[in-house]
Amino acid sequence: MAIDAHAHLCRKPRELAKIVLCGKFEQVWLMDVSGCGLKTHDFATAEEVLQAAQDFPGFFLPFGYLDLRQTPDIVDRLREKGFVGLKAYRPALPYDAPEYFPFYERAEKLGMPILFHTGIVEKCKREDMGANLSCGPGNMRPSHLAAIAAAFPNLTLIGGHLGYPWQEETAHNLYYYPNIYHDLSGYRKDVEWLLKNLDRKCNDGAGLRYFNDKILFASDALCYGDATGHAEALKMLQFWELFLDVVGGYYYRWGEPEERAKIFRDNALKICEGMKR
Ligand SMILES: [Zn+2]
Repeated sequence: MAIDAHAHLCRKPRELAKIVLCGKFEQVWLMDVSGCGLKTHDFATAEEVLQAAQDFPGFFLPFGYLDLRQTPDIVDRLREKGFVGLKAYRPALPYDAPEYFPFYERAEKLGMPILFHTGIVEKCKREDMGANLSCGPGNMRPSHLAAIAAAFPNLTLIGGHLGYPWQEETAHNLYYYPNIYHDLSGYRKDVEWLLKNLDRKCNDGAGLRYFNDKILFASDALCYGDATGHAEALKMLQFWELFLDVVGGYYYRWGEPEERAKIFRDNALKICEGMKR
């Protein structure tokens, strides 16, 4: 079974039991982004995300919206509410702005991994989201994660997606920082990059590892909680299973069954070990 390490929930979610019992997923990590006030999607409220996690404990892992417009104690509040990780999205300043470091310090202390969206982002007009957020990807470059990873070595960072059009920065993250992972959801042009990069060696001080030791399967499906979203998540799982097996299994080291299992499950479980639940 797989772990979907980057997913979303819709308002008034339905049929969650079906996806829990379908036998394909062991866990789904739900990113709350309701704090962005996006009008382009009908995302669940923070309470709905927490409720799903309560209804299906151990299956849905709730990640709270890391609202960097607030004060750093927001991290403690989210932890108290039951969120086990955080999701950062559309900050007004680059992720590595020193102003944001107190937030990361608290997350590190509380053992909360942070999933940072990186790279290409949905076009969104200012009036279609909350105030003081960014419309484009410039504040969400993969390279912004590097300074945070160095400053907070016990914080786990996940770069959402593979960071297009800045994949060299993604490669630098995976090569050099033991606490940065990336997930493979999103922009599918990245598949070309994956083919060439999954077998690259890391030099991150954590022993002999390859990029596929730090890549997570994720659907970023929009959204769990309705039939279309569930079909999309299952389709993405099927796509990656076939891709990693049929292409990887013949030509690459990452196609070996135990290497594939890292991407679908084992790398995510490693991150879970560091979470305080
Ligand atoms: Zn997302």
